Amino acid sequence: MSRVLVVEDESAIAELIAINLRHAGFEVSVVADAEAARTSVDRVLPDLVLLDWMLPGQSGMALAKAWRAEARTKPLPIIMLTARAEEGDKLAGLDGGADDYLTKPFSPRELLARIRAVLRRRAPQALDEAVEVGGLRLDPATRRVTREVDGTLREVKIGPTEFRLLHFLLTHPERVHSRAQLLDRVWGDHVFIEERTVDVHVKRLREALTPVQCAHLVETVRGAGYRLSQGSALAL
Ligand code: CA
Repeated sequence: MSRVLVVEDESAIAELIAINLRHAGFEVSVVADAEAARTSVDRVLPDLVLLDWMLPGQSGMALAKAWRAEARTKPLPIIMLTARAEEGDKLAGLDGGADDYLTKPFSPRELLARIRAVLRRRAPQALDEAVEVGGLRLDPATRRVTREVDGTLREVKIGPTEFRLLHFLLTHPERVHSRAQLLDRVWGDHVFIEERTVDVHVKRLREALTPVQCAHLVETVRGAGYRLSQGSALAL
């Protein structure tokens, strides 16, 4: 389930957004100012932030800039919400680090369409779209992982954490992910969970993939982390 953080000081708007997003299957947290937003993101990295421009205290724009300046929050998908319709402000919002912006008032349908578009570009693991690498197919909608072996479609028996880990790796193939990055992106927590937890679940994931001859897809990159790759020739 995708986590969306809503940063909005107008409680009626925040509530309306939260209801619509929860109805669409998102896990939603709501905070009313930049400080609370920082605290929330420091604890759990969301898949996307809906960030109001005008907040009491630090502005949404300044917060977006601050997040973009930090390595951990740099890739955080951000949609800026603004009551202003001026083109100049919109451009400033995008320059300030937002991936997109929405001018209030907006329809729930438009909000969901923008969220899905940004997630597709920035965080495809947060969407319910099937993904396939090397014949290994994961379908978030049915929560099934399958692969054809000797002409027979086999289902992979896999735990919920391994499922999320595999989903993230399949949507970000050929890239090396450090243990800290995986904790952030898969577990949403880099503070209270130890890095060796990642190793435990990678081991379980490889075991789950062994019967369908796909354990080799998950590579260990010494000193760096893990990578999902179809070509093991370049493994270090
Ligand atoms: Ca506001």
